[in-house]
Amino acid sequence: MAEFSAPATLEEALEQLRQPGALAVGGGTQVGLLVRHGMLQPRRLVWLGRVSELHGIRVENGALAIGAGATLAEIATSPRVRQLHPMLAEAAAQIGNPRVRAVATLGGHLAHADPRQDLPPVLLALGASILVERGRSRREVPAGDFFTAPFETVLDQDELVTLVRIPPGSPRRRSRYVRFAPGSESDYATVGVAASVELEGDTVLAARMALCGVHPRPLGLDLVELHGRRLDDRSREIAAEAVARACDPVGDQRGSAAYKRAMAGLWTRRVLRQLAADRAHGGG
Ligand SMILES: Cc1cc2nc3c(=O)[nH]c(=O)nc-3n(C[C@H](O)[C@H](O)[C@H](O)COP(=O)(O)OP(=O)(O)OC[C@H]3O[C@@H](n4cnc5c(N)ncnc54)[C@H](O)[C@@H]3O)c2cc1C
Repeated sequence: MAEFSAPATLEEALEQLRQPGALAVGGGTQVGLLVRHGMLQPRRLVWLGRVSELHGIRVENGALAIGAGATLAEIATSPRVRQLHPMLAEAAAQIGNPRVRAVATLGGHLAHADPRQDLPPVLLALGASILVERGRSRREVPAGDFFTAPFETVLDQDELVTLVRIPPGSPRRRSRYVRFAPGSESDYATVGVAASVELEGDTVLAARMALCGVHPRPLGLDLVELHGRRLDDRSREIAAEAVARACDPVGDQRGSAAYKRAMAGLWTRRVLRQLAADRAHGGG
């Protein structure tokens, strides 16, 4: 039976995680399952819920700074997140079910690194970075470099995600996240697509797309092919083709690799159509 501790400070938590066999616990929605099924056999569970430094959602120098201890429900309902990056709040609100969202934390979500998870593509599209700490050292990792393989990240065993920083967006930017979950709304998505596009009138200045569910890790793409083009049917086609070419899906119970590739293209077209409609209505 693993020992359990609930440190009150980040320093204590990081110190405890240096011990062999220690494992961080955020909301425990994955740790609980993995320990119950014998896939993890930690000697000590270090619960982060009391660490005050990991809590809070604030604005620092124009950037949105979200503590790793923020729950998905807090992110979904935070007035700051909804105002600055509504795409992130909307994506968080669609994850799992209310019981999962009430306890699951941003830090646990990122460290778990399931390639089907919804927030990584949103964070990639928004150009977020992830603050990682160990002992007295810290490094800031761009979200695009954080995930290395299915369920793997750049984190070492004694490192913690402490904060996610999202730089301020340009007023010209429109962002949207769509997910296709044909099974049930609370299921993982077959594909999720986040789009973040800077527009001058209806001309694209920059376009970043990021996807989950169709690649071994969250897939982020800067679509330079769209620069200078109007956001019309032809641009949507170019984007869909680029995404379908870049992704590398694995067939499973949600569909074959070919089906998922087709869905990645289709939902890329859809999210860009949605963005164009948002622009027409002055939203997004
Ligand atoms: C029923 C169900 C439905 C779900 N549906 C979806 C869905 O539709 N979309 C989706 O995206 N996700 C879904 N999920 C996954 C969910 O997003 C993750 O389970 C959750 O975000 C993990 O967060 P946690 O805080 O509970 O992690 P934990 O279980 O506490 O930890 C997960 C991993 O992260 C490590 N860890 C925890 N905190 C930190 C930290 N601060 N720094 C470093 N490492 C840390 C732990 O050691 C562990 O390895 C679902 C999960 C369940 C149970």
